[in-house]
Amino acid sequence: MTRLHLIIAVGIAACWFGATEQLMARDVIRHILADGFDYPVGKPDGKGYYKYRGYTPNGHLGEDWNGVGGGDSDLGDPIYSVAHGVVVFSDDVRKGWGNCVIVRHAYRDDRGKIRYVDSQYGHLLKRYVKLHDRVRRGQQIGSMGSNRGMYAAHLHFEMRKELRLGMNRSSWPRNNSCYYHPTNFIKSHRKLRSSTKLYPIQVNTFAGQGRLGKDPRLKNLEVPVTESSLRPIEKKGSEEKSSVLRNILSRLRKEKDDENEEALEKMRRRLKKR
Ligand SMILES: [Zn+2]
Repeated sequence: MTRLHLIIAVGIAACWFGATEQLMARDVIRHILADGFDYPVGKPDGKGYYKYRGYTPNGHLGEDWNGVGGGDSDLGDPIYSVAHGVVVFSDDVRKGWGNCVIVRHAYRDDRGKIRYVDSQYGHLLKRYVKLHDRVRRGQQIGSMGSNRGMYAAHLHFEMRKELRLGMNRSSWPRNNSCYYHPTNFIKSHRKLRSSTKLYPIQVNTFAGQGRLGKDPRLKNLEVPVTESSLRPIEKKGSEEKSSVLRNILSRLRKEKDDENEEALEKMRRRLKKR
C-alpha cells in the first residue's frame, strides 16, 4: 500500500466514523425524566372535560375527550403534554386523523428502572410544537380540533408502550402489547421520582423517519389552518357537500384504521340522509 492509499483509507474511515457518530447523536435527545403524568385536557386533573369514548383493545385504541359544554364548545381548547418529554412526531396526516402530535417520555418506574412511553394527541386544530422539541408537563402542545369539521371537536388521546408505532398503527397489534389504557396509566403515574439529570430519549423510531427513511412531511412545522378548511361540511353548498363527502370517503376507504372507520361510518350516514 502506498502512502497515498493509506491517506485515502484513513480519510474514508474517519468520514465513516464521523458520519455514524453524527447519525447516532441525531437520533438521541437528552431530557429530564417525567416527574408525573397529568391529563391532556383541563390540566392537571381533566376538570371541565369527560371521556366520551374509552379505550378498548382491538377496537378504539385511545380515549376521546370532550368538553362538558358539548358540541364544538371545546373547539380550540388547549391540549397539554401529559408529562416532560420530547416531540417524536408532529404532522398533519389528514384522513381520519388530521393534525397529530406524539411526545415520548422517559420515567422511572416503581422498581427504579428507566422506562419510556409515548403519548399521542389526535385531530388537533393547531400544533404548537415541532419534531424534536423538548416539552414540559402541562405545556400547551396544540389545540382541540375536529379534523376539518369531520367530527364534533374532541381530543383522541393514546398512551403507547410500543415506541415504533408512530402513525403506522395498522402495521402493529391493536392490543395491550402495544397500548396502555390511557386513564389507568395516568392514574397510576401521577407523581414520580424526579431528578435534574438528563436522560437519553431515542427519536426517529417510526417508519419514514431518520435511519428508517426520509419522509419530507416530517419537516412539517405548523400547518396553517385556513378558514375554508375549518368550515363545517354542513355549511357548504349542497353540490359541494356531496363531492367533499365522496372525496373523503374514497380517501378513507384506502386505509384501514379504526379512526378512519369511525369517520367513514359518519360520512356514510351523512350521505344517506341526503
Ligand atoms: Zn378516538
